[in-house]
Amino acid sequence: MIGIFGGTFDPVHYGHLRPAFEVQEELGIRQMHFVPLRDAPHRGQPEVSPELRCALVRAALGRRSGVCVDDRELHRDGPSYSYDTLASFRQQWPNEPLVLLLGEDAFRSFLSWHRPLDILELAHLVVMQRPGEHQFDSQLQALITDRQADSPGELHDASAGRIYFQQVMQLDISATRIRELCTAGRDISYLVPDAVAEIIERLKLYTGKL
Ligand code: ATP
Repeated sequence: MIGIFGGTFDPVHYGHLRPAFEVQEELGIRQMHFVPLRDAPHRGQPEVSPELRCALVRAALGRRSGVCVDDRELHRDGPSYSYDTLASFRQQWPNEPLVLLLGEDAFRSFLSWHRPLDILELAHLVVMQRPGEHQFDSQLQALITDRQADSPGELHDASAGRIYFQQVMQLDISATRIRELCTAGRDISYLVPDAVAEIIERLKLYTGKL
């Protein structure tokens, strides 16, 4: 099983890394690909170039096995649609289960993404959520009712098409807050791996002084 975790990663932080690791462990994902998007179709453009955001993820992952930074979106023009990214993964791994990780906030708008139902032909969705009650709008709820997997084993039995909810530890860290701290000249230790903080400081990223 291959995991795909897309994001702007502007910059990557422990709020990305810990939940991704928990999903990897729980589901038995053999390789987790962190995919920085080049161009963000659903939001404002990232502050730092795609190449540098990739370099930050690479530094965050270090030499750890079972994880990698995947720069395939950097080589594609136009908006970085998840559908296109997953189609390219599917070409590379025609039969293996693929799982796309996303936070619950991102999942809530899933049906407004480019070709959402075709995405489910290519991959499973794993929604990382907080403990507690979760309400979804009726269209999304219908999709969940149709597709929900009750155990990780069900994701191994098919190569795509199921939706699995996993509770992960919530670390209330956002890239927005980290950028704000940098701009204010504050220290970002313990929010990101040391190797990431070191690059951000050395290159004066997010200080508004580039
Ligand atoms: P920004 O503050 O710039 O909006 P972000 O910190 O939310 O960025 P993204 O790169 O946009 O980071 O997020 C990529 C994915 O990681 C999304 O699916 C998002 O839901 C998830 N994510 C981001 N922060 C956390 C967190 N603290 N805990 C769990 N999931 C997170």
